[in-house]
Formats: sequence, structure tokens, C-alpha cells
Amino acid sequence: TRVGVVRESNPDERRVALVPKIVPALVKQGVEVVVEPGAGLGALIPDEAYTAAGAVLGDPWSAEVVVKVAPPNDSEIAKLSAGQTLIGFLAPRNADTKIGALKAAGVQAFAVEAIPRISRAQVMDALSSQANVSGYKAVLVAASESTRFFPMLTTAAGTVKPATVLILGVGVAGLQALATAKRLGGRTTGYDVRPEVADQVRSVGAQWLDLGIEAAGEGGYARELTEDEKAQQQLALENAIKGFDVVITTALVPGRPAPRLVTAAAVEGMKPGSVIVDLAGETGGNCELTEPGKTVVKHGVTIASPLNLPATMPEHASELYSKNIQALLELMLKDGALAPDFGDQVLADSCVTRDREAPAAPAAADPA
Ligand code: NAD
Repeated sequence: TRVGVVRESNPDERRVALVPKIVPALVKQGVEVVVEPGAGLGALIPDEAYTAAGAVLGDPWSAEVVVKVAPPNDSEIAKLSAGQTLIGFLAPRNADTKIGALKAAGVQAFAVEAIPRISRAQVMDALSSQANVSGYKAVLVAASESTRFFPMLTTAAGTVKPATVLILGVGVAGLQALATAKRLGGRTTGYDVRPEVADQVRSVGAQWLDLGIEAAGEGGYARELTEDEKAQQQLALENAIKGFDVVITTALVPGRPAPRLVTAAAVEGMKPGSVIVDLAGETGGNCELTEPGKTVVKHGVTIASPLNLPATMPEHASELYSKNIQALLELMLKDGALAPDFGDQVLADSCVTRDREAPAAPAAADPA
């Protein structure tokens, strides 16, 4: 089997789908890895590092399996032909998803977003590996935008109180943000609508903010709140947020616009100089005053909405993503040949261009 590693077409997308470190293991399994010249440059990986690891340079788009990071654009899809397999972030639930075009082209496409959140698939879970990067970097963005220290400082010139940091939405990114803010010396609090998150929040040394609204949905995700619950939540948060120096929001509901957690009134209630980092900008933002992709100051509060934070840490983000891709590839290979078994829940769920009418016997779900 030939696996093609493409050079991402968006210059801001600095990640690469396979780093050289992974190549020897694939080659050992009978895979030929074809790397597009310059594919690793965004992540500071020269072509020679790939060839030294056993890959060849060439056209990745003609390989049996094409691996990518960002969803393909139209001209990239035009380079694919029927029977080829594509693996990457494919934004299957976005309004502008290319799944239809991939289906029409006869491409067998696997969306890493659709990998089930079960223990066995954790090693392939690219949403989680990249959310870890986002959660970490969001805290650094907040610290750098802040006019205040995170840690408590006791100096000859006086004592500085630690920053109070509130994380709204404590999934993978939120949990990493709590841990990172704590390491920087902040006083951390976490909030979520899934009650089982409380213990995880406490386990990273943070306080749990309980607003009495529970909204656990399917597959370990949250469900969308009812209109009444939304109003109740916004009001409760408006009161809670006032006391915080830093608010980082990561709340998402699969396939829905980002929940509006922070109203304009809540921003107005914060102390000038406070910072909000909104990680939900891509789906509209968790804060009413967020401008996706921008950093703005409203009522004296800095509101940053960075998009694609994992691409700002391309080295480690690519390394983690490569491990996810390697594990998914290995699940599809038998004696070096591509032979995906769609009786496997991970492959059945993540293959987004197959007809779903007759799924094979589902594996037992074990959400962790
Ligand atoms: P996500 O990115 O979909 O959402 C982020 C967080 O926002 C979630 O915790 C969600 O509950 C929260 N949220 C949504 N609406 C909200 C609202 N109105 N108010 C407050 N918070 C709100 O979540 P994720 O990081 O992808 O994690 C989803 C789930 O998958 C979690 O249960 C996580 O623990 C689980 N998970 C399991 C595994 C595994 O075992 N294999 C791996 C990774 C993640």
C-alpha cells in the first residue's frame, strides 16, 4: 500500500499528517510512504528527514491512501479519483462540508472527527490530541493578553494576588486549560453541564462551579440546552463571571452552533483588564461579543478568539496527530494491504462516505 502525505495548501495550517518518526513502523508493515516535497516545512521538518526515515518524495495524491490534516478544498478533491482513500479532519458536520463531493468522487473518506470516543480508540482520537494543544495554548494566550500576573507573588515591592481563572466547558481542551492555568499559579474553577466532569475538575486542583443545570447528551457529549435552561445559565454565569480575571471558554455541542454562555452584560460586569479567550469561535463563539479570529476590547475586557490554535504549535501537534493517524492506518491494514473491516465500530463510524443502512453488528460501546 502506498500512503501519500500531502503538503497542506493553507499556509496557516502548519501541521503535517505524518512525521518522519512514524515512517519506519509503517515501512516495516509493507507500506510505501510518499511525501509531497515541503510537506513538513510548516512543522520545521525538512524533506531529508523523511527520506532518511525511509519515505520517498513524490506525488502523494496518486497514492492508495492520502493522509491530511485540514479538510480538502475543491482543487484538492479534484486530484483524487474513485477508489482512493482519504484520512483527515473532514468537518463532516460543518455547513460547508466536502463529504458530498468526496462521495460523488468515489473516494472512501475517513473523518477523524467521527472516531467514537471509546477507550480502544483513544490512541486514534485526533479531536482529543489536538484539543489538548488548544487548551494549553489558550491559557498562554490569556496570560499574554492579561494585564495581571497568574501566580501569587510575594516581593519586597508588595504582594500580588493570584489570578482567578474560570474555564467554561471542561472537555479535553478545558481540562488541559485548567491544568495549565494551575501550573502557571492561577486559582482555577471549572464549569460544565455534564455532571460527571465535577470529579475531573477537582482532580486537577480546581473548584467546581455548580449552577444546577445538567445536560449530558449522547456519546459522552453535551446536549443543547432548552431555551429556558439557556436563559437560566446565562444569568447564573453573569453573576459568577464577575469575580474572575480570566475566562476561557471551550463549550461545544456536536453539529450545533456554539452555546452562548457569556452575554454582553456578563462582559460588562467584569473588571476592566480582564481577559476572555473563546475557543469556540469557529462555530460562532461562546461569548456574545466574540469576533472569530480577532482580539477585541469591549467594556475594557480583552476578548480573544484564536482559530486553529493547534497549527500554532505545529511540531508537537503534528507529532500527536501522526500517532493518531498511524493507529487508524494500522487498523485498516492487513499484511501491508488496505483491508478495512467495517464490522469494526471505529472504522464503520469514521468512514463518512459509506452508506450507513446496514451497519454490521456494533461493537459494545464503552465510553470512558
Ligand atoms: P466538546 O469539545 O464536544 O465540548 C467541550 C465541553 O463543552 C464538553 O465538556 C461539553 O460538555 C461542554 N458543553 C457543551 N455545552 C455546554 C454548555 N451549554 N455549558 C457548559 N458546558 C457545555 O467535548 P470533548 O472535549 O470532545 O469531550 C467530549 C466527551 O468525550 C467528554 O466526555 C470526554 O471526556 C470524552 N472523551 C472520551 C474519550 C475516551 O474515553 N476515549 C476520549 C476523549 C474524550
